[in-house]
Amino acid sequence: MTLEIQLLILFALGMLWYMWRRIKGSLQHLEDNEMRDFIQKRLGKNDLKRVREHLLSCEECKDRLDEIQKEPHRPSPDRFLKRRF
Ligand SMILES: [Zn+2]
Repeated sequence: MTLEIQLLILFALGMLWYMWRRIKGSLQHLEDNEMRDFIQKRLGKNDLKRVREHLLSCEECKDRLDEIQKEPHRPSPDRFLKRRF
């Protein structure tokens, strides 16, 4: 094998890996905790992007997000922990 072919294979594998990660990310439904963090704007930059992209393409999670938003607000566990320690 020449170096060029090896590089090409490496590049193709990299692309596949990247695409697989993106597809996997968008197929996996969001967790309730992630949605709560999203509503409370506590997500990091990368998570926020992933959640937004998923919500754009997933009706199921959009409905779930609406439901969570309707829930009465409870004190978050974060605040509870901070108060204790
Ligand atoms: Zn979903």
